[in-house]
Amino acid sequence: MIYLDNSSTTQVKPEVASTVVNAMTKDFGNPSSLHRLGLDAEKTVKNARAIIAKSLGASPDEIFFTSCGTESNNTVIKGVWESRRKQGKRIITTAVEHPAVLEPCRWCEAHGADVVYLPVDENCVVDMKALEEALNEDTILVSVMTVNNETGAVNPQALFHSDAVQCFEKLDIDVKKLGLDFLSLSGHKIHAPKGIGALYVKKGVHIASFMLGGGQESHFRSGTESVPLIAGLGEAVRLSEENKDKRIKHIRATRDYLRKLILDEFGDTVRINSPEDGVCSILNVSFEGCRGEVLLHMLEEKEIYISTGSACSSNSKKKGSHVLLAMGLTPSQVEGAIRFSLSEDNDKAQ
Ligand code: PLP
Repeated sequence: MIYLDNSSTTQVKPEVASTVVNAMTKDFGNPSSLHRLGLDAEKTVKNARAIIAKSLGASPDEIFFTSCGTESNNTVIKGVWESRRKQGKRIITTAVEHPAVLEPCRWCEAHGADVVYLPVDENCVVDMKALEEALNEDTILVSVMTVNNETGAVNPQALFHSDAVQCFEKLDIDVKKLGLDFLSLSGHKIHAPKGIGALYVKKGVHIASFMLGGGQESHFRSGTESVPLIAGLGEAVRLSEENKDKRIKHIRATRDYLRKLILDEFGDTVRINSPEDGVCSILNVSFEGCRGEVLLHMLEEKEIYISTGSACSSNSKKKGSHVLLAMGLTPSQVEGAIRFSLSEDNDKAQ
């Protein structure tokens, strides 16, 4: 099997799986319990929080666990809207965000927000001038993704919220240097299990809580912590941090090799939709005159797994990818697009 769909999800690493099982069967206490089992579970959560904070240049009390990247994005967008809508109505985002950003923005729009969807160029990069023009005194939130999940394009950013689900552990992120107020990430894109995410919230920034209840996560996100999944996320980040530079270099070299093979074989009949300086893991290619979905199933027969775009997006089958359309691709280029997404487990031999 050759798995080239790592932007959809990744295989859980054996070390991560055993950390998760250990936390399910041994450290099974409730972190809020006052006895030893509770304290052990609390320690496990604390350890994972510290690892994630370090990887982002944040402090542990700025990291909150969520159930997924979607929840992190919803928490920020709906939370900022609820807390700040009296101060302003404008939310700025881009036309190429993941539905986990677009849908909560549309929800805010339906509740009175003035949402600006910034256009992108043919490389999927947001025009910073358009952003400057859109920023006004009424703006309460800017949400621009760090890496596009379909093409891998990286946006220059020093903005307030960034959906970093596709770039976490694939780019160096320092939330302080970037001047971010919020950053969303997800476990299952970095070889941790599904059902765990995290949100960075800059100290001093207060927004409405998304989940009300017993007051866990410093009253920001109630609900008994999923200690096994949190431990798994911590272990996945620890492993990724261990050999980050080497791993990124390896993924990029493999992706560049695949790009070259495709260009050598198909030349002008393909359009490479991922910029060369995009994130190391994604290569989006349009094979004109071919339907992406047909290619996907043809490759599947050879046990090669890819995507036609975002696996979890609301891309309408009829209209095609909203991302590629926003980049100005023709309908046949959109229809013929497939996404290879790599991890360190892929190599040139594959
Ligand atoms: N944001 C981006 C850019 C994504 O690619 C994804 C998932 O594909 C998400 C958010 C949603 O993350 P999750 O699946 O953890 O909810």
